[in-house]
Amino acid sequence: MTVGDALKGLYERIDRVCRRIGRDPAEVRLMGVSKFHGPQALEAAWQGGLRLFGESRVQEAEGKFPGFIREHPGTELHLIGSLQRNKARRAASLFDCIQSVDRNELITELGALTVDRDRPLMILLELHTGEDSKSGYPGVEQLLSAAETALAFPNLSLEGLMTIAPYTEDREVIRASFRALASARDQLRRRFPEAGRFGKAPWSCLSMGMSGDFEIALEEGSTLLRIGTAIFGERTYG
Ligand SMILES: *Cc1c(COP(=O)(O)O)cnc(C)c1O
Repeated sequence: MTVGDALKGLYERIDRVCRRIGRDPAEVRLMGVSKFHGPQALEAAWQGGLRLFGESRVQEAEGKFPGFIREHPGTELHLIGSLQRNKARRAASLFDCIQSVDRNELITELGALTVDRDRPLMILLELHTGEDSKSGYPGVEQLLSAAETALAFPNLSLEGLMTIAPYTEDREVIRASFRALASARDQLRRRFPEAGRFGKAPWSCLSMGMSGDFEIALEEGSTLLRIGTAIFGERTYG
């Protein structure tokens, strides 16, 4: 299957789930997770209408995206893998959004790096909701403190939350992980109704759902699906 056909099929599946549960498909964004895929895959995805891309590693993204972004204005690039502090500066200059923010010291670092920027750096706070993943804040208490830290920096735009569900066949375990994220978002929104100051609805982004579980994620309120394999096929290395 070509990348274009895969994208078409995915948009159809997203539409179908949204119609079934009474959600507006326009509130759901599709990200192509292009890690381990090369320039041809990026080009095919762009031709298929994709504008939002996700990468796990700063170094890999630096090798692939600066040229692509120059040639394809309108590309939006998010970091979805864990970020070490010593790569924060490079990440802040390449990515539009860091989805994998999981420590307050990283927020402080990103905040300091962006004070002079002309456009805000978007961030999501990652919540740990599944056994398999090691990353993410452990609970809502820590998210509240993280939000407070982030809101002190004028050029960090706190857009919402992100999680990775456990890798399991058990749909109820996956669903519980997504519900935990939606519930955390509701609590944060009550406490910090002003987040998302750059023109968007507060806490509008819930990044959850991958190739194997995105339909459950949509049912639980996802607004950003991070899809790799179902768009680009199996990853060739790594
Ligand atoms: C690799 C990755 C994805 C995409 O996974 P697929 O199962 O290939 O769709 C999504 N989110 C994160 C954080 C990833 O690392």
